[in-house]
Amino acid sequence: MNRQQQIAEQLQAVRSRIIAAARAADRDPARVRLLAVSKGFPVEDLRAAQAAGQDCFGESYLNEALTKIAALSDSAPEWHFPEWHFIGPLQSNKTRGIAEHFSWVHSVDRLKLAQRLSEQRPAALPPLNVCIQVNISGEGSKSGVAPGELDPLAHAVAVLPRLRLRGLMAIPAPTEDGAAQRAAFGRLRAALEHLNTQGLALDTLSMGMSDDLEAAIAEGATLVRIGSAIFGARD
Ligand SMILES: *Cc1c(COP(=O)(O)O)cnc(C)c1O
Repeated sequence: MNRQQQIAEQLQAVRSRIIAAARAADRDPARVRLLAVSKGFPVEDLRAAQAAGQDCFGESYLNEALTKIAALSDSAPEWHFPEWHFIGPLQSNKTRGIAEHFSWVHSVDRLKLAQRLSEQRPAALPPLNVCIQVNISGEGSKSGVAPGELDPLAHAVAVLPRLRLRGLMAIPAPTEDGAAQRAAFGRLRAALEHLNTQGLALDTLSMGMSDDLEAAIAEGATLVRIGSAIFGARD
């Protein structure tokens, strides 16, 4: 089997997992979006996924992403451009490139970075969709706002022009314990519901990766970020 067929098959297997997990949770599978996380993989792999129907890609490093964005927009008519999601740690010297080239940012965790993205989002483009990353497990990861600081950050980001606050993102501490996975994702869902009772209208829960997408979907994920299950192990 060649690489292109392999990616198409693995993509199909992930779609089947999403459908099964949604049905098991009594949810509409169409309400769970699959973001293909392509960091570390070459543009040919993205083309293979695109040929197999994948329409959005997640990248973590700006310079690597810009090369792929340029390659995939050169080769296709505009209606066939994929949608680009920035999911990596944000640094202030990268916000301009992100604001100019991406449709979504999942990793906003500080107001200053959100303000820069808002100021730098070109007027000719639609508002930049953003999620706030929450440090839901409290350990290990340096990224993400502490749960106790989420509410003021969310309300401040929600009023920035040129941004559209869509929801929350988390990368829980890895565990093979399904109940612990669900507990972490459940905390993110509760945080989103809480913000919506305060008048925000958030519709996106970005949670679930290759190893825990079932638990995330059971807890209400609307977007799962899947890399290795589609493209294989990264070195
Ligand atoms: C790399 C990455 C993923 C994908 O992880 P896999 O385990 O390969 O599915 C998802 N989200 C973020 C933020 C990532 O950096």
